[in-house]
Amino acid sequence: MFLRSRTESDLLKLLGFLNGRMSLTEDVLKQYLYLKKGYEGEVAFDQLTAANLNQDIFILNDIMLEICQSKFKIDSSLIIQDTIIPCEVKNFEGNYFYKDGEFLLCDAKTQITNPLHQVKRAEILLQQYLKKNGFHFRIIPYLIINPKFFLYQAPQNDTIIFPPQLSSFMEKLNLRPSNQNGIQQRKLADKMIADHIIESPYPKLPPYNYHSLKKGLTCAMCGSFLISCSERKDACTVCGFEEEIESAIVRGVEELKMLFPDFELPLMVFLIGVRWLALGKPFERF
Ligand SMILES: [Zn+2]
Repeated sequence: MFLRSRTESDLLKLLGFLNGRMSLTEDVLKQYLYLKKGYEGEVAFDQLTAANLNQDIFILNDIMLEICQSKFKIDSSLIIQDTIIPCEVKNFEGNYFYKDGEFLLCDAKTQITNPLHQVKRAEILLQQYLKKNGFHFRIIPYLIINPKFFLYQAPQNDTIIFPPQLSSFMEKLNLRPSNQNGIQQRKLADKMIADHIIESPYPKLPPYNYHSLKKGLTCAMCGSFLISCSERKDACTVCGFEEEIESAIVRGVEELKMLFPDFELPLMVFLIGVRWLALGKPFERF
């Protein structure tokens, strides 16, 4: 049972908006694509846990905690009986090989940050967090690997779950005794949810301002600006997606609000509502 669902982070949303409205530098674009791919992998894992795990297993998605001034993020935390299972979901693609404790890309021989180190760090910090808050749970961490990743000379490490092992991994979890009355488990879940840290995305964004961004409504499906409109509907000339004009404008206002949180709302409604006015409709409806 999901006690905390996953949504796109504000940073990912904002980078997506900016990617459509300005040219990102290579580094920022890389960061955006990395976050996007990671999010897609996490959502794919959520679909598997939702479909395959017993309902009484508590699942907390996307939690960031802090202990002793160190922050750590857990992609999915499964709470079963006396155990908490932090899962780090990695959406790597390509062929890698494992050598001397490192993950190396086969073609380029470039090294990626060893995700097992990240798993270990989260385990140690989670241990400290549980202790500080008086919880007595065992921690069994896992690294979940996506289907497009292949690791040659993979280490015999029970922490890593490769795609062919996912179904037996979940079957094993389902064999564990249920959460019974689940009071301690629920207490831990509620505490972690209450302590979840929301970081401001704005310091991590490249510089931008209203005048430098490309203006206009975008397609909800493909992000294209090539939209034609009739009396009631917008239609994308690239992918053909149709949307009610009201919904497209509300979406545009939401985007502006996120990109420019200091703007006053009437100004935003005015900026985005110009086209709406041109159609002869009062924008007071928003
Ligand atoms: Zn489209």
